[in-house]
Amino acid sequence: MHPQLELLLELQDLKTQRQALATEGLKDVESEVFDLRPEEALQILDTKIDELAERLDDPVRARFCEVSDSVGRAVAPVLNGVCYGCYVAVPTAWSSEVGRNDRVNVCSHCGRFLYYVD
Ligand SMILES: [Zn+2]
Repeated sequence: MHPQLELLLELQDLKTQRQALATEGLKDVESEVFDLRPEEALQILDTKIDELAERLDDPVRARFCEVSDSVGRAVAPVLNGVCYGCYVAVPTAWSSEVGRNDRVNVCSHCGRFLYYVD
C-alpha cells in the first residue's frame, strides 16, 4: 500500500476517534476503569493527528483537510468498483489494476481518497 494512503487511513481513524470522544466523552464505565480524563485523551489524539498530518505531502494534506472539513470522512473504501463515499462507480481500469493501492487514488466524483478492499 502507498505510504501516504496508510497515513491517510491512520489519520482518518484518529479523527473518527476524536470526533466520538469530543461528542460523547468517555463512557462512564471507561472513566471508571481508565485513569485518563477526556481532555487529556483529546490532547493526545490532537498531537498525534498533527504529527501524522505533517508527514503527508502538501497537496495530499491540503485535500485531506478540505474534504474532511466538508464531508467528514476523507478516505473511502471501494467495493465492487463503487466508491463507498458517494456510491458512484469509479473507472473500471483502476479497479482491475494490479497494485491499485500502491498509489494515491482520488474519487473523481466526491474527491475522497480511495482504497480498494475487494
Ligand atoms: Zn466518491
